[in-house]
Amino acid sequence: MKFCCSDCFNPKRDTFHSFIRKNGFASDEECPYCKSTKGTKIDVDILGRFIKTGIDRAYDDTGSEAEGHLSIFGILNDRVILFEWENHREHELTKDLFEKIEDVDRKTYKLKLESEGDDEEQYRIWRNFEHDCKYFNRFFDLTPRGSGKTNRRTDMLAKVYDTCLKNLKEEIEPGTELFRARVIDSKFKRGRDYDLDEASIGPADKLNSQAGRMNPEGINYFYVAEDEATALKEGRLRANERVLIGRFKTIKKLTVIDWTKVNIYEKAVDIFSEKYSPKMAVYQDFLRRFAIEVGKPNETEKQIEYVATQLVAEYVRGYGFDGIKYDSSVGDGFDVVFFYGPDITPESGDFNVLPKYTDIAELIDVREFKIKIEYFLET
Ligand SMILES: [Zn+2]
Repeated sequence: MKFCCSDCFNPKRDTFHSFIRKNGFASDEECPYCKSTKGTKIDVDILGRFIKTGIDRAYDDTGSEAEGHLSIFGILNDRVILFEWENHREHELTKDLFEKIEDVDRKTYKLKLESEGDDEEQYRIWRNFEHDCKYFNRFFDLTPRGSGKTNRRTDMLAKVYDTCLKNLKEEIEPGTELFRARVIDSKFKRGRDYDLDEASIGPADKLNSQAGRMNPEGINYFYVAEDEATALKEGRLRANERVLIGRFKTIKKLTVIDWTKVNIYEKAVDIFSEKYSPKMAVYQDFLRRFAIEVGKPNETEKQIEYVATQLVAEYVRGYGFDGIKYDSSVGDGFDVVFFYGPDITPESGDFNVLPKYTDIAELIDVREFKIKIEYFLET
């Protein structure tokens, strides 16, 4: 019997690893592929048959080689990313896993599709969307739609919305406390340039507008965090900086898209899970990439990086949601962007203005901190 071990494979493939735990055995012999002695060992024939079931869930074997078709090895190595980075004998291992089943290099497999073109989208969906938003056309609602390959963003967003986003709806109850931090310019004086008041901690007015991951310059949303620590970390503070922390309480029920829940769709794209869905696989990458992008720190000189996420936010806003909740990439808590702006009176009643953030939240208190960083010498 030939065996391989759990350490041969990408540790992130959960369903796959739980199969190995259930069907493998312990032994301190060295693994012939990855040389580990610690992994759970498993008979390559048993594991090969399990992998084949997964591949059959997502791919059709057309029986003949053709342009654009994939081999078993190509699927496992490039699409599923099944092997541990350090395992350099992945090709030999694949051949042994499939020894009794088939040739792992014949390119006869094709992804099961909902419709023509989905295969391409699955691996390019976010990249294409982002590229088009930045460099092709930015304002999709002003452009005639459906011109071939070039302007499919509205259709695609509609599909993402119908398939996943509308299921991520969440209500934030009135009385929920949320926090907002603002770094104070070192030249500013309290009493002259800012104060411990609403105007200093609420969303910026249009004169002080800056683009963010979800808002273009000029459209100021109300960004808040679940707790003080997360709000502070979002500010990316340096030593000696001063910061205001505002504590707010929501005053009405608010409906948001909860992007922190998108990992419920991870199972849907795991070919080793019984919950695998070809349709979801197309959108999951999009959801994940958006989550990564909105979590990145703001870099004011690179505003073009925000265009794609801003468009998605505006699209969600169009469905009448109050905001988007998402995981902070720096803190342990979540952040929420509410599509509400500063508390100002519009210059003219003829203009559209964002609803005021004071319609949805009240300020409980504002405090000022100075950041001190202590250094400890490690001996
Ligand atoms: Zn191994």
